[in-house]
This record gives sequence, structure tokens and C-alpha cells, in this order.
Amino acid sequence: MQQSTDDHFLGGVREFQQHTAPGLRPELARLAQEGQSPSQLFITCADSRLLPNVITGTGPGELFTVRNIGNLVALPDAPGRDDSVAAAVEYAVEILGVRTITVCGHSGCGAMQSLLRGAHRRAGRAGTPLTRWLRHGQDSLQRVRHSPVRLRGAAPSADPLERLCLTNVAQQVDNLTAHPSVRRGVEAGTLRLAGLYFDFATAQAYLLAGDGRTFSPVRPRLESAA
Ligand SMILES: [Zn+2]
Repeated sequence: MQQSTDDHFLGGVREFQQHTAPGLRPELARLAQEGQSPSQLFITCADSRLLPNVITGTGPGELFTVRNIGNLVALPDAPGRDDSVAAAVEYAVEILGVRTITVCGHSGCGAMQSLLRGAHRRAGRAGTPLTRWLRHGQDSLQRVRHSPVRLRGAAPSADPLERLCLTNVAQQVDNLTAHPSVRRGVEAGTLRLAGLYFDFATAQAYLLAGDGRTFSPVRPRLESAA
């Protein structure tokens, strides 16, 4: 058992060196030599419960990942625009040549809760980096009022937070298309956009339909073939 937070952190690294690194070394050595060529850009929330590689069954070199508060994709012309996500999108599309961009949201998102409480409205002179960042989620708040995204075959969730978490994914997928490199890729048929939602309580992933209005559960392969 570790004695302190620092010991706990280093204990994990030591554990990795001892048990995991030997198995990963050949693949990482290959990637170190050849460079990365991931096929997917994965944009998701910074929430500690969300494990991108685990829920997508991917390993080193497969997922180019951007994480931020609320899995937000700021519009290129948004006030106080954000170049971080835009730069990652441009790099992934133009340099790495990814074929898919996935926006992945999740249940119980703290950023969505803050939006519901109006934190973004305190983004003026008394604003903080967090409240200013949350302004990039305002479009999701608008959208959830007139066309909330729901689970397929179900009424919109009675829970305002769940409605917003789901709807935010669809909005951020739409926001991607405002980025020139994405628009070009989608129009050329070389780039596909996807929305994913992960529910922690049931460890279930849901995929956004092409019309951006509903999510369906992703079934295990055997079950979906039946
Ligand atoms: Zn979140």
C-alpha cells in the first residue's frame, strides 16, 4: 500500500515499468521508428472516468486524442476563439490524414452541469478561464431547448443534465464542420464525423445517428449479428 499521493503516483509508474512496459516495448519501438499514423481523432472530456483507449479498444498509435472540459469544439469565429482544438483538428486532418473524427461525451458531465447553472454568463470582466471556456457550450444550451437529442425509441430524457450531455455531442459534431479542413474532408468523402456518448453507470457506449437526433447503444459483435 502506498503511503502518500506522491508515492501513489510513482507507484503506478513503477507498476507500469515492471508489468506493462515489457509487453508494449516492441510495438512502441516500431512506432518510434515509423512515427504515428492514427486513423482517428478522438475529442472527449477531461473527466477522469472516461478511458478513450479502453472504450474504443485501441492501443498505441491508433487514437489521436484531444481532451478538454466538456468535449467542446469552439467555432473558428467564436468570441475569445480557441486555437487549441482548432490546431489539433487541422493537424489531425491535414498532417496525419485521419479518416474519422469522433466527439465523445459522457453522462454526468460537470461542464454541462456548470452550463445549466449559467456559469458561462459570468464570463465577462469577472470571468475566469473556466467560465470563458464554457461559453463555447452555449450553442448546446440553445439546441437542447428546441431539439434535444435522445436515445432511439425513447422520449427525451426527463433529466436536464442527460439531455444536455447528449445534445452537446451532436452540437460539437456540427461545430467541427465549421472548420475548413473538416469541411473539405467531409465534402471530398475522405473524412467521416461521428458522435459517441458513454454512460458510466451502465458502462454503455451509444452512437449518434447520421441525422444527429438520436443515439443507439453499441452492441457486442455477436449480439448485433444475431
Ligand atoms: Zn465531462
